[in-house]
Amino acid sequence: MDIAREGLERQRAKRKRVARMKKMIIYTLVGFMILTLCVMTFLCVEVLSLQRQIDELSSHVATSQEVDNPEQMVEDSYLDDLYKVDNAENEAKEGDIPMVYLTFDDGPSDNTNKILDILDDYNVKATFFVVGQDTSKYGDAYRRIVDEGHTIGMHSYSHKYSEIYSSKESFEADYNKIHDLILETTGVDTKYYRFPGGSSNIVGKCSMSVFINSLNEKGTVYYDWNVVSGDATSRAFTADELVDNVMSDVVKYKTSVVLFHDASNKDATVEALPKLIEKLNEAGAMILPITDDTTVIQSVNVVQ
Ligand code: ZN
Repeated sequence: MDIAREGLERQRAKRKRVARMKKMIIYTLVGFMILTLCVMTFLCVEVLSLQRQIDELSSHVATSQEVDNPEQMVEDSYLDDLYKVDNAENEAKEGDIPMVYLTFDDGPSDNTNKILDILDDYNVKATFFVVGQDTSKYGDAYRRIVDEGHTIGMHSYSHKYSEIYSSKESFEADYNKIHDLILETTGVDTKYYRFPGGSSNIVGKCSMSVFINSLNEKGTVYYDWNVVSGDATSRAFTADELVDNVMSDVVKYKTSVVLFHDASNKDATVEALPKLIEKLNEAGAMILPITDDTTVIQSVNVVQ
């Protein structure tokens, strides 16, 4: 009897051990799966954040490629169906009041709001050539530009030269995206455009005449610039140097279209702005937003 009970006890103990082992194996497996899931989620988040950083970097690289002196580049580029616009009539003469158009490319970013605050303080209107940003984050900045009386223009949606300038179709797809974003966010049907890199850039696979013609067909006016602040060059100018760069050039022209950038890394631009406005005021310049009456400043145009 005792032997039978002993045997039974042993069997029960064995079953318990087996059940314990099974439980351990299941727990280990479940634990391993949870750990794997956690690692995968972490890696996915990392990859996405890296992708964003790459996109941001490539857009900054593209920005810094924007030419310092577009006229210089035209000399070297193909000019078969383009001609260099003669701006001789725009040369300043004794007694002219300089008309200065401050333009900001590549925003909106957090710096856009700082720039808008400064412009508001001085009651100055400017022009913003915007790119495509997340409207849930920057919708208010797009609207602020318009609501506070500044001119809003397009500067492409993606700012990726390789995409925009690869064909007429991709240029127009990008154009429609930024045009519709501005229309839906601000209600403005803008007809102003600034080419990433300017109209005389030689980055694309097609001649710029393809894209200029595309804008002409839509009745959209593109504006280049004739004064460079220097805030997108490889050399990092200080705020004071940016002011000097602009002031030394605006005296040369009746109409000056000044190239600035309001991207997130353009802190010197923000710092330079109050000083520049004060100096321009002292010089008796008129600071204006681009309108249909503004003298069109272009580096190149299409031979008709
Ligand atoms: Zn740009």
